[in-house]
Amino acid sequence: MNNINKEVILKGIPASPGICHGNAMLFYQGNIDIPSYTITADEVDSEISRFEKALIDTRSEILNIRNKVSNSLGDGEALIFDAHLMVLEDNALITEILQYVKSNKRNIEYCFNEVVERYINFFKTIEDDYLRERVADIKDVSRRLLNNLLGEQTGIKKESLKKRIIVSEDISPSQAVGFDKDSLHAFITDSGGATSHFVIMARSLKIPAVVGLHNATQKINTGDFLLIDGFEGIVILNPSQETLDKYQIKASERLEIEKAYTESLYELTETKDGHKIDLMVNIEGSKDINDFKAYPSDGIGLFRTEGIFLKSRELPSEEDQFNEYVSVIKAANGKPVIIRTLDVGGDKLIQSNSDDSFLGLRAIRFCLENLDLFKTQLRAILRASAYGMTRIMYPMISGVEELSKANSILGEVKDELSSSGIKFDTNIQVGAMIELPSAVNVIDMLSAYVDFFSVGTNDLIQYLMAVDRMNDRVSHLYQPTHPAVLRSLKTIFEKSKICDKPVSVCGEMASEPIYAALLIGLGADSLSISGSRIPEVKHFIRTLDYSKLKSFITEIWNIDKASLVEEKLKNLLSKL
Ligand code: PEP
Ligand code: MG
Repeated sequence: MNNINKEVILKGIPASPGICHGNAMLFYQGNIDIPSYTITADEVDSEISRFEKALIDTRSEILNIRNKVSNSLGDGEALIFDAHLMVLEDNALITEILQYVKSNKRNIEYCFNEVVERYINFFKTIEDDYLRERVADIKDVSRRLLNNLLGEQTGIKKESLKKRIIVSEDISPSQAVGFDKDSLHAFITDSGGATSHFVIMARSLKIPAVVGLHNATQKINTGDFLLIDGFEGIVILNPSQETLDKYQIKASERLEIEKAYTESLYELTETKDGHKIDLMVNIEGSKDINDFKAYPSDGIGLFRTEGIFLKSRELPSEEDQFNEYVSVIKAANGKPVIIRTLDVGGDKLIQSNSDDSFLGLRAIRFCLENLDLFKTQLRAILRASAYGMTRIMYPMISGVEELSKANSILGEVKDELSSSGIKFDTNIQVGAMIELPSAVNVIDMLSAYVDFFSVGTNDLIQYLMAVDRMNDRVSHLYQPTHPAVLRSLKTIFEKSKICDKPVSVCGEMASEPIYAALLIGLGADSLSISGSRIPEVKHFIRTLDYSKLKSFITEIWNIDKASLVEEKLKNLLSKL
């Protein structure tokens, strides 16, 4: 694979907007292609030196992360990295690796991997849960060390990777939580869809991302120079000076446009003909408070609580959760905060839920089977509700039975708190996400059990169209303008109005100006989006004419092809 000087254009799915260039850093998942070759007796020392250097680099990387986590989240959360350091500094392991190089005369990556695999296989057979769980630590540390060995092997100096473009087959939300946004330029992945959870995180961090490139990890080497266009979903390997200049112009134009967006930031969020829209913010935890504060909004429309659970191997305590929720509620300063109960499963896996099927034991299903965990979270939310306007929202509700069961658990927790004299908002509002086709069909029935609804378009489209939101092979079928999606959305808005229940949209559709327009035309009057998208979406709403949007919906209503609706929508909006 020789990429020198040849400009290669790779086309993927635009996932998070932005233009940037920089050096690639291959982020190996699972099966790393380990080079294997023999060495001479004279080369043994230099292989050992490479290993020692990689050990030092890996140690300082882990220490760095450990300190950052400890400063921002506390020592408890950082413990996992102490365990990683212990693995890295294990004398028996190091001695065995050195011995293996000396007696087998093969390259260090190969020897290291052989010995580590032997350790992993041994640990897997041990009948002790604690020790078996150490396998994950060994794998994590060995991947980090191999990354350092292989990165070094390409001859790329660390300094040039300071601002790195991560190139990976895929990225899990728990890996994304661990990335340091200050040292990251962009993400590009072979698989994934535009609503994969790590993409949503990248968007809120304002990190450009392109996904669904199929074979970027095979075409790109660590250290290769890349140009990323997150608006169009384009990655250019070895861009020419002419290409760089062209994109430099595009990036400056974009900056100008973004400046223009901020001009109306403090104006009302309403259409030209005075139709008011509530604009709220989606957050993943207290780490996003600054993002929330940076943009004027009507509150927090979706607080995804999974981040608190993904950060650490251990389940967060009630106190940890309480502190996290209170800090967000206080920062919201009287504005509502909608805290969504735990939505793990699918692509968000924790120790106690490893069901990676989006059709499996996910979200409320998992919570209703793990009542201790669910009750702990509800207690923490309820206690936090004494500090400001808090609302509770259940994800993935499929019907009334599930919803009333969740409510009765909430009732039990409320009773327990009351009898212990612990303060909470006794009138706390409760809502359900509408993200399953079944919920759309029974929304009138659900309305008797809740105070509000919020539409999760990311999942609604996935489940309605049977298109895995993570699977790039079927991402062309993930169509927000499909007539089935439009009809479902219209039903949701109309029926919730009849039932007199407020409804918001917190899926990624609301963050895209053209789809935000579509949602408003269909009847949405509240949208929740990541803070960084507020200037653009607000600016855009202010250019819309509500009455024209309504006629547009009538005009497209009987169009049977998603692509045609999309085209008409783009035409309408380009005129603005
Ligand atoms: C959704 O499904 O649209 C949603 C907001 O929830 P999540 O993306 O966390 O599944
Ligand atoms: Mg969802």
